[in-house]
Amino acid sequence: MSYPAQRLRRLRQNTGFRRLVRETSISTDDLILPLFVVPGHGIKKEMSSLPENYHLSIDCLVEEAKEISDLGVSAILLFGVPENDVKDDQATGAYCPNGIVQRAVRAVKDAVPDLMVITDVCLCEYTPHSHCGILKDGYLMNDLSLELLAKTAVSHAEAGSDMVAPAAMLDGQIGTLRRALDAGGFENLPIMAYSAKYASKLYDPFFREGTQSALAHGDKRTHQMPISNSNEAMREIALDSKNIGQIAVVIVRPNVLVAVCIDQLHVDPHLVS
Ligand SMILES: [Zn+2]
Repeated sequence: MSYPAQRLRRLRQNTGFRRLVRETSISTDDLILPLFVVPGHGIKKEMSSLPENYHLSIDCLVEEAKEISDLGVSAILLFGVPENDVKDDQATGAYCPNGIVQRAVRAVKDAVPDLMVITDVCLCEYTPHSHCGILKDGYLMNDLSLELLAKTAVSHAEAGSDMVAPAAMLDGQIGTLRRALDAGGFENLPIMAYSAKYASKLYDPFFREGTQSALAHGDKRTHQMPISNSNEAMREIALDSKNIGQIAVVIVRPNVLVAVCIDQLHVDPHLVS
């Protein structure tokens, strides 16, 4: 059937029809708000390179969490900014039971139990060079760093995190974290994987000011993906979806530059089933 019998505008003629056939809708249920927690008390400091985003001490974070929850937002994603003197080559601040993220999670879950708290799992905020794990001759060591990431994920779970979000783009990180969480009694805790994370200068304000973990030297191109490759992104996502142990929750980042990947995921849903 074609025009004039076929007229797609019939279902656009009024608000009722348009609401009825809407294919995409966004509500506060779909939103996750990233928040940056810092040591101290009474701190709510706007970041100049990320306007309307703040560094929050735990007491102010709790107030922000209450407000967000009242607005109907489902979840926050927590990034920790530790004191400089807790940074070391083993990133111990990432997985110590009283680390900045662990304390923040406990405080938010105590005050606003229904707000979902997702925690960023990486080591770059906790090493003096700001690389995402253990370095040897300038190279990011994959398997040694995985062990620390697994400890970090378990410590976040112990603090009450509702979902962990590993961000380092290391080989095997999803399977390693899944096994560590299961062994720690957190088999019901989901993982949100940064599956296709591209090396990009767009992160610079985020690292320089947001998490205060600008690289002391080098770059992240040996583990984050080259911006030229979308087939490789599909392979990364397929690998993660096999290991994630749930209906996949995957992230492609920075999404403004790699919309083609998200589009490909849409038309190739078996990748994330
Ligand atoms: Zn990192």
